[in-house]
Amino acid sequence: MAETLTIKVEKTQQSKINSIDFNNLPFGQICTDHMLVCDYIDGAWQQPTVVPYQNISLDPAAKIFHYGQSVFEGMKAYKDQDEKVWLFRPLDNYNRINISAKRLAIPEFPENYFMEGLKTLLQVDKDWIPTTEGSSLYIRPFVFATGVGFHASPSSNYKFVIACSPSGAYFGGKVKVLIEQTYSRSANGGVGYAKAGGNYAGQFYPTQLAIDKGYQQVIWTDDTTHEFIEEAGAMNIFIRINDTLITAPTSDRILDGITRKSIIAIAEDSGINVEVRKISVKELVESAKNGSLKEMFGAGTAAVISPIAGFGFDGTDYDIPEIEDRYAPLLKKKITDIQYNRASDKFGWRFEVK
Ligand SMILES: *Cc1c(COP(=O)(O)O)cnc(C)c1O
Repeated sequence: MAETLTIKVEKTQQSKINSIDFNNLPFGQICTDHMLVCDYIDGAWQQPTVVPYQNISLDPAAKIFHYGQSVFEGMKAYKDQDEKVWLFRPLDNYNRINISAKRLAIPEFPENYFMEGLKTLLQVDKDWIPTTEGSSLYIRPFVFATGVGFHASPSSNYKFVIACSPSGAYFGGKVKVLIEQTYSRSANGGVGYAKAGGNYAGQFYPTQLAIDKGYQQVIWTDDTTHEFIEEAGAMNIFIRINDTLITAPTSDRILDGITRKSIIAIAEDSGINVEVRKISVKELVESAKNGSLKEMFGAGTAAVISPIAGFGFDGTDYDIPEIEDRYAPLLKKKITDIQYNRASDKFGWRFEVK
């Protein structure tokens, strides 16, 4: 790593911003005019550079293609009414990409490269941060092996990239989920706690099987017994039984979500009883049968909170009747009010990009 950090900016000659319909943004499909790139060569991260958004050319023997050595992050930038730009707990994303990287034998990325690089990129592409209700700039930092060779060993070279995508509000609607009894997302001692690319590839097939059966998402259970609830697709899961909000403890199989831990803090601060503990499928089914199951939802950066309408297990579907005074919309409002600088930030989570 170089002594002093200077982030070079190479601006595009042809902005495509005028061709984008900001009132009709899909999620994560369009990318901004620029990206941040930084190469790891000769045992050191080189100077990060903001360059025009462009294809990346790689040797077919690059290890990313063969051994999947890659990790990523997902975060958002928000613009408030005064056009100020905010991030939400960005150092947590920085720390997590290095936790993920370490597990995949990828060298740690320096904090000032991440933070200063991201800030520079956001300043250059500031006009791309949408302002319509619920929209934001989705930010995708990722790092992957560029070193060459068919030998199954860690790469000597890597590329770190941050790409950004203006994204509309995530109107997912309520989803029906299937409790998975055969496949596993992650295993003891595995890479489930890392945002490693291959984790998601491994989810696609079982998720497709669930979709074919009429569900939209899979609820992952523990790999050993399939008796305990772990995550909802690529989101953490919350279950409300009576007035208690329950979420599984993080482990090497469960990703330590920033939305999850923010929701725990906000719920507790709002006087909601939160229990971080293992919850069995048996308890869930019983609570659905006796009417004490009030809500279920997924939590993650992209959708913030994704309500669940009901679940399937062992060939039976269980509906969660719609109640008044649901926690999901209340918690979603509280967290997004902090993110968009519409409420005071007693937790110190907001970070202004100046
Ligand atoms: C990213 C992710 C989450 C949510 O994490 P956030 O930091 O809240 O976005 C949860 N589970 C999995 C498997 C994930 O990849």
